[in-house]
Amino acid sequence: MKGFKSFASATSMRLEPGITCVVGPNGSGKSNVVDAIAWVLGEQGAKALRGGKMEDVIFAGTSGRAPLGRAEVTLTIDNTDGALPIDYTEVSITRRMFRSGESEYEINGNHCRLLDIQELLSDSGIGREMHIIVGQGRLDGMLHAKPEDRRAFIEEAAGVLKHRKRKEKAVRK
Ligand code: ATP
Ligand code: MG
Repeated sequence: MKGFKSFASATSMRLEPGITCVVGPNGSGKSNVVDAIAWVLGEQGAKALRGGKMEDVIFAGTSGRAPLGRAEVTLTIDNTDGALPIDYTEVSITRRMFRSGESEYEINGNHCRLLDIQELLSDSGIGREMHIIVGQGRLDGMLHAKPEDRRAFIEEAAGVLKHRKRKEKAVRK
């Protein structure tokens, strides 16, 4: 993360398999780490990133430090198991955004479109609906949902929905 929300200077973290806990005082940037992951994976909603407009992800400055002109996040995924359909054992996804609102995306340092990233991730269970991130209140919503809604949620997370839609289409013909 560089220039992303409270992370003005380049900051990196390693997420090992298993559970990682991020601990710190209120307002120290724990949730900003989760926002960075959602953002680099293509999140387009300012509200989902807890901001008013998309530019709010760019470091806005503090009393001792001037605002920055761009935010950048790179997420490097271990692909030795080939979960992502690309011929690299490590896949780096980068998103960069300028105050003009313009965004740039890269896969392993090569410019690409957001669509290329969405396609790369589409069968990995990461998906567009971001069910990999369960925000505050979402768990409650799921526990209190009707059984059908809860099933749709699980089906989407598991990537079953698109096969069911294709089946329904085939049966209709
Ligand atoms: P809590 O324990 O209350 O949930 P937290 O550790 O999750 O706190 P965050 O919400 O991640 O905290 O971080 C909030 C901090 O990030 C605030 O101090 C806010 O000023 C700062 N922040 C958010 N966006 C920006 C920005 N664009 N530029 C600079 N600082 C920012
Ligand atoms: Mg928080």
